[in-house]
Amino acid sequence: MTEHAVVIAGGGPTGLMLAAELALAGVDVVIVERRASQDLAGSRAGGLHSRTIEIFDQRGIADRFLSKGQVAQVAGFGHIRLDISDFPTRHNYGLGLWQNHIERILADWVLELRVPIQYGVEVTGFAQDDAGVDVKLSDGRLLRAEYLAGCDGGRSLIRKAAGIEFPGWDATTSSLIAEVEMAEKPELGMRRDAIGIHGIGRVEYEIRDGQVVYKDTGTVRVMVTEPNVGPATQPTLRDLSEALIRIYGTDYGVHSPTWISRFSDTTRQAAAYRDRRVLLAGDAAHVHSPVGGQGLNIGVQDAVNLGWKLAQVVKGISPDGLLDTYHAERHPVAARLLRNTMAQVALLRTDDRTSALHEVMTELLGMHEPRKRFAAMMSGLDIRYDLGEGHPLLGRRMPDLDLVTDDGTRRVFTLLHDARPLLLNFGEPRGLDVTRWRNRVQLIEAECVGAWELPVIGTVTAPTAVLVRPDGYVAWVGDPPQPGLIDALTSWFGPPATP
Ligand SMILES: Cc1cc2nc3c(=O)[nH]c(=O)nc-3n(C[C@H](O)[C@H](O)[C@H](O)COP(=O)(O)OP(=O)(O)OC[C@H]3O[C@@H](n4cnc5c(N)ncnc54)[C@H](O)[C@@H]3O)c2cc1C
Repeated sequence: MTEHAVVIAGGGPTGLMLAAELALAGVDVVIVERRASQDLAGSRAGGLHSRTIEIFDQRGIADRFLSKGQVAQVAGFGHIRLDISDFPTRHNYGLGLWQNHIERILADWVLELRVPIQYGVEVTGFAQDDAGVDVKLSDGRLLRAEYLAGCDGGRSLIRKAAGIEFPGWDATTSSLIAEVEMAEKPELGMRRDAIGIHGIGRVEYEIRDGQVVYKDTGTVRVMVTEPNVGPATQPTLRDLSEALIRIYGTDYGVHSPTWISRFSDTTRQAAAYRDRRVLLAGDAAHVHSPVGGQGLNIGVQDAVNLGWKLAQVVKGISPDGLLDTYHAERHPVAARLLRNTMAQVALLRTDDRTSALHEVMTELLGMHEPRKRFAAMMSGLDIRYDLGEGHPLLGRRMPDLDLVTDDGTRRVFTLLHDARPLLLNFGEPRGLDVTRWRNRVQLIEAECVGAWELPVIGTVTAPTAVLVRPDGYVAWVGDPPQPGLIDALTSWFGPPATP
């Protein structure tokens, strides 16, 4: 039986990001992926929000995505565009880039980090005991792991086999989505009618002056809302043709589909993100309508929250109770996201009263403060983990400030590339003593250039010292003589080493 510290079921965006985080921490991890390769049928998610770009920047890979996609103001609520260009982040925009490209870039990075990805194999079951998990594979092999991460999507076998409840709401609406060829030139753009909102575009596009401009030729991407929630079966070309005729009066000679699928607004969340040695992340832990384009983003961010914690537990640095903070922090984030997608689905109904409500919301979100709050929510920049009362930075993302250090000017995010915790001391040089965490925590004596400004909150008091977790969230803010620092170091990065 082959042994690994961690087996990840599913090599979608969440599984790939988790694997990379574990590999950066030196953990032996393997991905088991059902698909024969990283190729994805259909382009699926359309891009990245600001916080996800920041997360990639924290690992030094943001440029790989930015160079392949289209930077634009993509945040929105119920199709009401929310501009974040005045936000205090280096990435005050989103990125249009299809999921198949995002996955390919992530997979290349994961392979650089020497994580094996076993394609064409499925996890078919598992049994856990006090010391580990036996993971059954479709080719008859058994893997032994200390932990199993279910990143296996919305129909997660891992979640079901662990007996984790998945409460929520059934679908109220569904849409066919497809990538096809058309013999005739279709009407490109969005269309609203009594059934709902539909759209025809091309996979290849440019964003000019904030507007999507489709290429004249190439694969057509169709999204047609159905009059009633469709069945769970795989839709056919005939279903798509009939749906197009119902809405547009013609199917434009649709043919040669490379992808036909159906999505709905089914909204569910795993009651627990952990069952002893089994953890869930990404769509395996939460499903919702794609409106707002948040699913891939929250999955990547789940992975970054879980990765360093799981690595520390596997390496014996922290007790396994640290893993409970994963559920405690990420479950509320997804619960809030589920709520915002349900609200957006309701807001996008096309009856007259909802259309009136949409106009009112558009007016409201045109105002400075509501726009800021909703934009920060939709772009993932307002997340705050409940780490208690204190400085506004506590539990929030560390801003990517320029620091003057002994090694010259460095950006905070550059110091996070290795996914190691960071203690930044802006006070009395050598005023902090972390000798007993020396091998785990980087202590940087620095001066800060620029204002401490947070999205929505605005300028905050410059702290004397900050402890930043590998995921970029602030675990402690303080002044020497270090009140709470020892506790924070111990609870997040394990007990002190013996001198
Ligand atoms: C039409 C549409 C538009 C979307 N638009 C956006 C958007 O604009 N922005 C956004 O952020 N999100 C969007 N999403 C959501 C996004 O696609 C998902 O949230 C994202 O793919 C979730 O990533 P994941 O890795 O958690 O799961 P998945 O991408 O589902 O990956 C799970 C992986 O696990 C594999 N797998 C499954 N079972 C097993 C098994 N038993 N053993 C081994 N492997 C297994 C699968 O093959 C798959 O590769 C959209 C989704 C749809 C359908």
